[in-house]
Amino acid sequence: MKTMTCRQLGGPCDLEHRGESADDVINAQDRHLKEAVKAGDTAHEPAREDMRGRWKHPKKSLGWYRDAKQAFAELPED
Ligand SMILES: [Zn+2]
Repeated sequence: MKTMTCRQLGGPCDLEHRGESADDVINAQDRHLKEAVKAGDTAHEPAREDMRGRWKHPKKSLGWYRDAKQAFAELPED
C-alpha cells in the first residue's frame, strides 16, 4: 500500500489516500473532491472541476495521469 495526499493529486488539503495502485488513489481523490464540494467546501471546487474535465477528456488528460502514476510509482511502500 502507498499513500498520496489530496495535495499531491492537485487538491488543496493534506488528506491521505491509501491504495495498491495509482488508480485506487485517483478514484479515492475523485470521491473526496465530490464529497468536499457537496459539503460546501469551496477550496476543493477548482480541483473538482479539473478532475471532472479529466473524465470528460481522457485523451487530453493523459499527461496528468502519467504524472500521477509516475509519482505513485516513486513513493515508498507504507
Ligand atoms: Zn482535500
